[in-house]
Amino acid sequence: MTEAEALPVNAIEVRGLEKTYAGSKKAPPKVALKGVDLAIPRGSMFGLLGPNGAGKSTLINILAGVVNKTAGHAAIWGRDIDERPRDARAALGVVPQEIVADVFFTPREALEVQAGFYGVPANERRSDELLAALGLSDKANAYVRALSGGMKRRLMVAKALVHNPPVLILDEPTAGVDVELRRQLWDYVRRINAEGVTILLTTHYLEEAQELCDTIAIMNRGEVVACEPTPRLLRRLDTRNVIVTPEGEVVAPPTLTGFEVSPRANGAFAVTYCKGQSSVEQVLAAVRAAGVTIADITTEDPDLEDVFVALTYGDPKAADPTKD
Ligand code: ADP
Repeated sequence: MTEAEALPVNAIEVRGLEKTYAGSKKAPPKVALKGVDLAIPRGSMFGLLGPNGAGKSTLINILAGVVNKTAGHAAIWGRDIDERPRDARAALGVVPQEIVADVFFTPREALEVQAGFYGVPANERRSDELLAALGLSDKANAYVRALSGGMKRRLMVAKALVHNPPVLILDEPTAGVDVELRRQLWDYVRRINAEGVTILLTTHYLEEAQELCDTIAIMNRGEVVACEPTPRLLRRLDTRNVIVTPEGEVVAPPTLTGFEVSPRANGAFAVTYCKGQSSVEQVLAAVRAAGVTIADITTEDPDLEDVFVALTYGDPKAADPTKD
């Protein structure tokens, strides 16, 4: 990082970002990003949430310089990825989803090699400090292949930080990680965030984003469908489903003013309502007013898909993954 450079307001800024993967004889071209705008303020712990296929990895890979965008702009730490690609990459550390183990290196060597790759001068390297911070000091000289999965993952975090980047991306860092390691990882991430490192975390677990992140953006089908401070988003997401099984033969579910209705198996339907705004009684009254005789009801908490439905309410195409 050049000391003279003014600190940017946003650690990451993305405007109109589009990506279409070229097709092949067997597969048609695939639109992965449809014009994404995103501003991640310096210092924040930012969650990027979305189901598989939403476009999260594509976005991250474009920022990391491993996938070419089709259109739009992106800057890391104020450095445009087209105009200053090396500087932009130098500002970024990425902890990838998969563990990439350096079979022939010890953890200390792995960090030294990585630092060399980024051109960090020997006297500015901090391999031992990072090993200690991530609880790997006593494994510093062990072969990486002898480390447990959790240790390898911590080493990946250390590797992403060798060049002291002001921005760190963690791509689904806790997929398949046990609870204890998850805690350790989060404690460390919180600590470096408190020290000023901007964190972008992708996940498909709402609880994870909710616990860690000050701001959450939700992506679905290549678009950002929400981006708000976490408490505000959670209030909006405070929805419940009432599953209604009607009496009589199977007919199409009713249309209810003010509620989202989606069909379920065997003529049942789900009514989604916002807890802060309506009650189960109001839902049932609306169902009865639509001429439905209720045989049975159950309630359920929504999963992420329901959340997208709630967020994209009014745009059925956006909420239906089978439509293009
Ligand atoms: P996420 O990380 O949110 O799961 P991805 O960015 O991996 O989403 O994928 C977004 C869309 O782009 C998906 O439909 C996926 O199938 C497609 N996609 C991702 N990578 C490629 C690729 N290399 N070639 C073709 N399509 C791809």
